[in-house]
Amino acid sequence: MKKIGRLFFNLQKMMQIPQMLSETISSMPKTLSDKEAPCFFRKHYIHSGYRAVHQKWRYYFLSLFQWHNESINVWTHLLGALVVLLRAVQLAETVDFINDAHSWPLLILLLTSMAYMGFSTVAHLLAAKSVFHHYAFFFLDYVGVALYQYGSAVVHYYYAIEESWHESVRGCFMPIASFLCCLSCFGCCYGTYCNYTHHPWVRKVGQIVPSALAYEWDTSPVFHRLVIWYPFWVTGDFRSSPALLFHFGQVAFFLSSAFFFTHPIPQSWFPGHCDFLGQGHQVFHVLIFLCTVCQIQASYLDYLNRRDVYVTLHTNGEASFFVLLFILTLVMSTLIAFYILAKVKRAVSNTEKQRKE
Ligand SMILES: [Zn+2]
Repeated sequence: MKKIGRLFFNLQKMMQIPQMLSETISSMPKTLSDKEAPCFFRKHYIHSGYRAVHQKWRYYFLSLFQWHNESINVWTHLLGALVVLLRAVQLAETVDFINDAHSWPLLILLLTSMAYMGFSTVAHLLAAKSVFHHYAFFFLDYVGVALYQYGSAVVHYYYAIEESWHESVRGCFMPIASFLCCLSCFGCCYGTYCNYTHHPWVRKVGQIVPSALAYEWDTSPVFHRLVIWYPFWVTGDFRSSPALLFHFGQVAFFLSSAFFFTHPIPQSWFPGHCDFLGQGHQVFHVLIFLCTVCQIQASYLDYLNRRDVYVTLHTNGEASFFVLLFILTLVMSTLIAFYILAKVKRAVSNTEKQRKE
């Protein structure tokens, strides 16, 4: 009876959570219009839904349940990270991620996919705290993107590559991919830092050029395979190689996501009407998530069906080397982000000093 009583008590407490939450949210500061928000945080064509700056951390964490102009960006990648986590748990039932070294590239892709979506969630949720925190959390986002680039490169090189392309790039593919990850992390962080003091085009170039180079290099095994297997996608008969359909999907979703990342569409067509729902960046989040889902499925199918190919192309020691290179890439991109963040900190405090004087 005691146990039932305690259970009933706990259940009652849990039932009160939604009400407590809605009371807390209704007592939170209301969102602001673009004219009320500090200049730094204003986004082109977005007229409302800005959160107040310099509030307690609790406010930004609880804003997960508030309707503001970053809500969809937060939820798309939060749910995306959970979907990938569930897929990883499901795959772990059939794939021996500990003892089969050939499965480690797939594990790296799963971990980096969760990382980039998790970091993006944190960035969109907490960056409104202050100018410095905006930089710090988006630099974390850029580290996540660099890691995901590495995850993409390693699965494409390990499972998707054809023998002829492997002949041309063996020995240099992953070191160059790792270098490009660091370069794109540097480009994104430095471009964003320059945005504080230079013209906005510096940011665009810093973000887009190294990332485009990294994408072309990292996805070259897939492009090469799609080109030489073109009869499949002309006839639509993917039965003998179902992974090709998902590779085609990941490329199509990525390219369309890149379009929405670089163009403020549709908010530039309907200024003030896409403040909460329909911003180009939200479309980008959804498309890049779909790209990741296709990529994971394609890599899993290649891992299952192309074992005789990749076992002859890669020795066991190569998978361990790629894990070590992954750790090195993680350390290097984190150091790059911290180095530029220190510059940001100095620039922000100088601006604040000048404002006080
Ligand atoms: Zn984003």
